[in-house]
Amino acid sequence: MPIDELAKLRLILKNQGHQITKAREATFRLLLHSEPQSLNEILMKADGQVDRVTIYRNIDLFEKLGIAHRIYIGWKYKIELSDEFTGHHHHLSCLRCGKVIDIEDETHIDEFIQDVAKKFGFQPRRHQFEVDGYCQDCQSNE
Ligand SMILES: [Zn+2]
Ligand SMILES: [Zn+2]
Repeated sequence: MPIDELAKLRLILKNQGHQITKAREATFRLLLHSEPQSLNEILMKADGQVDRVTIYRNIDLFEKLGIAHRIYIGWKYKIELSDEFTGHHHHLSCLRCGKVIDIEDETHIDEFIQDVAKKFGFQPRRHQFEVDGYCQDCQSNE
């Protein structure tokens, strides 16, 4: 039976010696079932329910604990919950409009990574595969 996401969050926090707080749960909810978001977008969504500094601090903690990760688009980045909550996938990110396209069905990317690791006798645990570029709309607006 799949345990629900909030229970998973609590377990990770507890196992790594961190307190389960209302603010941490609220920050987590801002990320849950959402597209990758910039910090600004997350703060807008929080709309004062959780204060800025607390959100920054919690997201920082989430990144350290592997609960969330960054997706870089050029020199900027967006935040998304990690594979454990979203399922493993990759991204195509548009440098102009900031759109992030999830790619979930391209299993040959993962097979390729497995093959490369195998060649080096390496046991892969985690990877991110990101492509920056221009989406269809942005190409045609050029
Ligand atoms: Zn675009
Ligand atoms: Zn992958």
